[in-house]
Amino acid sequence: MTKKYDIIIIGAGLSGLLSASLLSKKGLKVCVLEKNITPGGMIQPFKRKGIMQETGMNFFGAYKKGQIQYELFRIFGIEDIEISDIPVFELVTDKKVYKIPNNYYKFYKEISGYFPKEKENILKFIEKIKEINSGLTINNIYDNTNLYNYLGEGAEPFLNGLTTDKELINLLKYNALLCGYDSEKTSLYLYASITGSFMQSAGMFTGGTRQFIDIITRKIILNGGSIFTKKEAVEIVSEGNIIKECICKDGTRYKADKFLSTLHPYILLPLIKSPVLKSFYRKRIMQLPVSKGSFIVNAVMYNKSFPYYKNPKIIQFKAEKSNKSVLFYTPVSGKNGNFARVVKLMTDDSYSEYVKYAESKTGKRADDYTFFVQKKVRKLFNAVNSIIPDFERNTESYYVSTPLTFRDFTGTPYGSSYGLVHNFNSPEKSIIPINTKFKNLFLAGQSINFHGMLGVSVTSLLASSAITGEKIK
Ligand SMILES: Cc1cc2nc3c(=O)[nH]c(=O)nc-3n(C[C@H](O)[C@H](O)[C@H](O)COP(=O)(O)OP(=O)(O)OC[C@H]3O[C@@H](n4cnc5c(N)ncnc54)[C@H](O)[C@@H]3O)c2cc1C
Repeated sequence: MTKKYDIIIIGAGLSGLLSASLLSKKGLKVCVLEKNITPGGMIQPFKRKGIMQETGMNFFGAYKKGQIQYELFRIFGIEDIEISDIPVFELVTDKKVYKIPNNYYKFYKEISGYFPKEKENILKFIEKIKEINSGLTINNIYDNTNLYNYLGEGAEPFLNGLTTDKELINLLKYNALLCGYDSEKTSLYLYASITGSFMQSAGMFTGGTRQFIDIITRKIILNGGSIFTKKEAVEIVSEGNIIKECICKDGTRYKADKFLSTLHPYILLPLIKSPVLKSFYRKRIMQLPVSKGSFIVNAVMYNKSFPYYKNPKIIQFKAEKSNKSVLFYTPVSGKNGNFARVVKLMTDDSYSEYVKYAESKTGKRADDYTFFVQKKVRKLFNAVNSIIPDFERNTESYYVSTPLTFRDFTGTPYGSSYGLVHNFNSPEKSIIPINTKFKNLFLAGQSINFHGMLGVSVTSLLASSAITGEKIK
């Protein structure tokens, strides 16, 4: 007999888990369906030779009591999770090492010190970031004014209008990797939301992302929720404008009063055959571009050979045509006393470079693929060696994830890291509402609103509120 739930959530990535935690806490009978063998989605920690490695989520902002991410964690029921503070990011350019404090006041003091002639512009920058973030407080979150005001403005035109000092503009884009920054598309709303959250505080899970997944899945189950893995949704069946059930690849069927999809819209739309979704709507969504992918190297350091760095570094190096950034940090979870056991390197990467290998699967790639990947690793290592001379000498082994790895493990279309891109030049086309043409189907996940811990948390809260009919605070 098919069991009926209050709500079926499709996808156990960050969005599915946060929403399931909140909705089960609210007393709803929740069922999460996940196609992979483990929950986490883009957050995929893995163990090699007994040592935990991180892919996906690195840091998040505004996590301190009273700040927005803390309040969201509280609402999701996970405010007790242990977080380590990151007081400062370091931007290493060929000119200088800049310290960028994760605090509005300290940010102003430090950055004005580097650019004394730009004090006024730095202040204007902070004021604008604060203004946009005023919409991201727990009391204002249900008001979309800032979203609609700033989704049609570009981050790049804003920065270029602020100052002519290229070095300062470069510094203000220090978190470009975490924003999935694209100078031609990234909206001021996205850039300011993420930057503003880091200018309040920054942190990472002390026990790594594994700790986060373990705690949140335990809470969902304790609240009476169910998480089923190896359940790939292959069809979402409707009658008129009501969704009836979700059919999985193994033939199992799941019924509920309401459904929440956290899938990438490219994956979701083909699952719904109903003519309720018009072809022009399908076409519009399927034509939205996806963000870039990531190239990640997890380097395992010889035991007690390499210092643990509290401050993550963003190293800029010259690539073929432009500057490229690589994020370098030592996760707390890989700490061994004052030493780091693991170093994570991350840079952005384009799927277009992998098209030649697109038909292959992990573990069965063409011979020249290894060579191709090694060349990329070499470039990253050279960039890191130039500022941290002991890095490679102390590296015992390393593991690489490319956009193809992400595509194969997480199912993300074209190995994209941050889902669909919302282009500030055509904001009306980029907006995908939480409510759909189906009365009982809701959308969440990183392609709706914006990506990352903050973007996904906000959307998961708004979707959960739409489902319960209550403005949850
Ligand atoms: C390399 C990298 C680094 C990042 N760093 C940061 C960072 O430092 N800070 C930050 O805030 N954010 C970061 N992010 C972004 C953040 O991790 C994502 O925005 C977030 O995890 C996305 O969650 P999601 O639930 O929207 O999507 P997903 O995690 O993609 O979840 C979707 C889930 O649906 C499942 N699924 C797909 N198809 C089906 C199907 N047919 N049936 C059932 N299940 C299905 C997938 O397996 C997946 O588990 C990073 C992302 C990447 C890739």
